[in-house]
Order: sequence, then C-alpha cells, then structure tokens
Amino acid sequence: MEEIRHRINELRSQLPEGVTLAAVSKFHPVEALREAYATGQRVFAESRADELAAKAAAMPSDVEWHFIGHVQTNKLRRIMPHVHTIQSVDSERLLMLIDAEAERIGTRPRLLLQVHVAAEQTKTGFTPDELLDVARRCAPQLRAATIDGVMGMATNTDSTERINADFAAIALTAKRLRDILPDARTLSMGMSDDWHIAVAHGSNMVRIGSTIFGPREY
Ligand SMILES: *Cc1c(COP(=O)(O)O)cnc(C)c1O
Repeated sequence: MEEIRHRINELRSQLPEGVTLAAVSKFHPVEALREAYATGQRVFAESRADELAAKAAAMPSDVEWHFIGHVQTNKLRRIMPHVHTIQSVDSERLLMLIDAEAERIGTRPRLLLQVHVAAEQTKTGFTPDELLDVARRCAPQLRAATIDGVMGMATNTDSTERINADFAAIALTAKRLRDILPDARTLSMGMSDDWHIAVAHGSNMVRIGSTIFGPREY
C-alpha cells in the first residue's frame, strides 16, 4: 500500500500541467483507493456498475467518479447517483437514456463520447463520423447532461507507429467535435503503457491503473 503513494506521486510529477489524472481503480480494494486519496487524488475511474456503487458508498463524498466501462442499460440507475463523468458513451440510445435519468434524479453528469479507432473489433465506440453526427443532432436536445469531449483507446500493439496513428485520429475527432461544441474540451486518452504518446498528441486526461495500483486480479 505504501507503494501506491510513491507511485502516484511519481506519476503526478511526470504529468504536464493541465493533464488530469484519472486513477483507474477497477478490481482494487477500497484500501488501495484510500492510499491514493491520501495523496490528494480525487478523480477515480471504474468499469463495473456494482463496483463503482459499492466504492462510492465507502469513499469520501468529494471523490469525482468516472465510469469507463461498457454501460449496461439495466445498471444505469445504479451508477447515475454517483457519477461525475461517464467516459464511455458509445450509442445515441445510451446518451439519451443517461440524459433522461439525470433529469429524473436531478444530476448534471458530464459525458465523453467514446470513439473507436483501434484495430480490435471487441472495443466499442462510435466511428469518428458517427460521433460527430450524434453530437450535432443530440447536444441541442440534452436537458441535464453535457457532452464534454472524447474518450478513446489506441490499439493494443507493440507498433509505436500504429499507436501514434490511433491517438492522432482520436485527437482529430476531438478537434472536429470542438468545431461543433466549443466547450467540449476533454480529450481522454492514454493508459499505463501509452500515456506518454497520448499526451504528446494533446491528451488532457489520462486513465491510469496498473502503474499506480499494480496488476489487476480478474
Ligand atoms: C482498465 C482501463 C484503463 C487503465 O488501464 P491500465 O493499463 O491499467 O493503466 C484505462 N482505460 C480504460 C477504458 C480501461 O478499461
């Protein structure tokens, strides 16, 4: 646990100013999150609804919870009271459901639209053109939620060339989104193994798990 403090401080000292660190705490116990919290970390990201709800109940109320997993609509109500940001909005239907639920319970969540550029078919998200189309049509209809930017992942590969190309494509999508929604400034990209490259492409939010908390036991 001591190591968590050391690793997160080390990481924070390496991040350029203006880059927010979302500590990806999925699969790690609340004690681990408390260690990170003690260093001043407030943004935590989870990928499973039940886990997020349980941890939100156990952690101080000033934690900013981000959801980064695939949202199952039957679990939406479970996470909505807790989330500050849902980073993994990957369909128009989900976007409108989140907005309706936020209006119902009186919250104002921030949303990132997930863009899919990686080679893996298993990863979800909009194509860049779909994402822009959905933003253009849906943003004016939102009553409680706001579209805050883009989240994306690079292909899981050793090819630096491919990773660079993926981050460039995600960053370009974010830039095009800002032409439609000037306030949608969040560009969430970069994980433990590739955040240096993501930041070089203009990322202003990195989502880092294993470098802080160690390997996950699934
Ligand atoms: C798990 C996860 C991360 C963190 O990955 P690490 O390699 O542990 O830093 C980041 N983003 C998403 C969407 C994830 O699911």
